[in-house]
Amino acid sequence: MLNLANINKSYKMGDNIVYALRDVSLTIEDGDYIAIMGPSGSGKSTLMHILGLLDVPSDGSYKINEREVSHLSEDDLAILRRETIGFIFQQFNLLPRMSALENVTLPLLYSRIPGGREYGASLLERTGIGQRSFHKPNELSGGQQQRVAIARSLINKPLIIFADEPTGNLDSVSEKEILSILKELNEQGITVVIVTHEEEVGLQAKRLIRMRDGAIQSDERLTPLPEKLSEKKIDEDRKSHKKLNIFLEAYEYLKLGFRTLAANKVRTGLSMLGILIGVAAVIAMLAIGRGAQKAIESQLSSLGSNLLILRPGAVRVGGVSQESGTTTRLSVDDAQYIKGQLDFIKYVSPNVNGRGQVAFQNKNWSTRILGGSAEYAPIHAATPTIGRFFTEIDNQKRARVAVIGMTVVREIFGKKNPLGEMIKINRVNFQIIGILPEKGATGFSDQDDVVIIPVLTAMHRLLGKEYVDSIDLEITDPNKMDLAQDKIIEMMNTRHRVAPALKQGAFEIRNMADIQAAVQQSSETMSVLLSSIAAISLVVGGIGIMNIMLVSVTERTREIGLRKAIGARRWDILAQFLAESVVVSAVGGLIGIILGWLITIGINSFSGWSTSISPSSVILSFFFSASIGIVFGIYPARKASLLNPIDALRHE
Ligand code: ADP
Ligand code: MG
Repeated sequence: MLNLANINKSYKMGDNIVYALRDVSLTIEDGDYIAIMGPSGSGKSTLMHILGLLDVPSDGSYKINEREVSHLSEDDLAILRRETIGFIFQQFNLLPRMSALENVTLPLLYSRIPGGREYGASLLERTGIGQRSFHKPNELSGGQQQRVAIARSLINKPLIIFADEPTGNLDSVSEKEILSILKELNEQGITVVIVTHEEEVGLQAKRLIRMRDGAIQSDERLTPLPEKLSEKKIDEDRKSHKKLNIFLEAYEYLKLGFRTLAANKVRTGLSMLGILIGVAAVIAMLAIGRGAQKAIESQLSSLGSNLLILRPGAVRVGGVSQESGTTTRLSVDDAQYIKGQLDFIKYVSPNVNGRGQVAFQNKNWSTRILGGSAEYAPIHAATPTIGRFFTEIDNQKRARVAVIGMTVVREIFGKKNPLGEMIKINRVNFQIIGILPEKGATGFSDQDDVVIIPVLTAMHRLLGKEYVDSIDLEITDPNKMDLAQDKIIEMMNTRHRVAPALKQGAFEIRNMADIQAAVQQSSETMSVLLSSIAAISLVVGGIGIMNIMLVSVTERTREIGLRKAIGARRWDILAQFLAESVVVSAVGGLIGIILGWLITIGINSFSGWSTSISPSSVILSFFFSASIGIVFGIYPARKASLLNPIDALRHE
């Protein structure tokens, strides 16, 4: 039993107050069949919406079965609505992308009742369009759509049905059929309230209420009420439903999200583009970074841990050092001196570095020129497998002999055997005496793109250098590393007469641990840099998703209104839209991962850089992109969930 007492509903229009309902009091008995008539604008729909809990009165009291509902929360209203009320609208309000059967079973998503397909199908049979279950609304006539809408209003076994001009858009044949269905439902015990313009429709009802200017003008009973249907039976009927579990529910929303997005492929594709590119970039960049680091590490470890590299200090002390006669430059003699003084030095190689143009016949190739001593080979595992390395005698004679890397061989000799051939390096003739063992590319640099020549030849005949760039020293005993470092620095400071105040930075000596730490440090810096670029692109992608979701909420306002009318709570709408944005971002993330992987493969095969995709970066970027969907989906989803059901339904 529904009880309205002194209900007012007013709207503020600028400075005026418009009364849609004035002091309406009304009692509706269970099992009644009520027609509401009246001119347009007389408040019929407003009354229906208040009765149907879609709208709240400005003041007055409304009781359902003695329970005051005016102060219930929106979610409580939603629950009450879906458990007791069915709506039929003039515009049918079917969701266009769903089949008739799916439209009918839609309210079950919110009442958490699983597997209503059979029941839904039986309702479609009952309203006479069982054979059209799998058609979409646009494949159905108006009368057929309204039958689907009636079946939908029945799916939750309502106690009362509100029909607002249900035949207003229909031809007279369909109108008759729809009315007979409503009549039949009433005979089975469901209360029916119908708004109509047609006098004859009104006269078929058991009770006829006429309205004018927001007030009830007349209220007459045409047919006596039948005996009360036992409420107990209806209650038992409802308890036959089982509750849906939370995973099924999440699955339903995700499925719904997929379908909505699949229906709008171009837009969906565009909105996931940002995330997609962001994730692909993260995967590819991290793979390259990691590959480079791995390659450098493996190369460093092949050098052995007993290597020290001595360089002139980074701190140059121009005027002061000249005055006191000191210099921090290193010479070939320094190398020999250190080896002569310290018995735990196994090998020593003074090195110079430069670039040179290598020419053979009509081929040209620009490469790295490295000058070293004969001991460079054992220090760097560079003893040729074909031919030989140069000797100390070659070095002393400043012989024009060269050992070349495989990349240089490929570039200027192709398949030809280069041993013994004469090449020109910066127009100076050299003879090739050996080919270096292949080392492979380490990230950004190719270790085989090099020509090694005696250091004295390099300095005096090719690069025009007076000093060496660094001195490699291999120590016999790893335990003596620290001792060696201190001794060598001290020795150099003395030999070069470095002023005491400048001793700190005059020479620099590095061991492998230092170098590895430096590599580690720089690759970490690079990772942080790459990750922040990636994070920015993901945020931009997220904003893109938010944008599209906001458009989607506006476009689908009526759909949201309908969903609320059939019992969706705020949370249900929120979950639906969140699921959509999570699907967009997660799918975008997945495609991004695949794309990133392809880019990585491409880079690897085209440029030869070694790459390594870390599983953690894949997992991380997937979950990160999915959470982007949540973060940026929250605002539009919340906006949707806060829509007032009746305003949303009226949205054009
Ligand atoms: P009916 O269904 O009988 O044609 P309604 O109940 O839709 O009439 O509307 C009754 C009155 O309330 C009308 O004058 C209408 O302009 C006004 N009205 C309804 N909804 C709103 C609204 N959201 N804002 C302002 N006025 C409204
Ligand atoms: Mg109306």
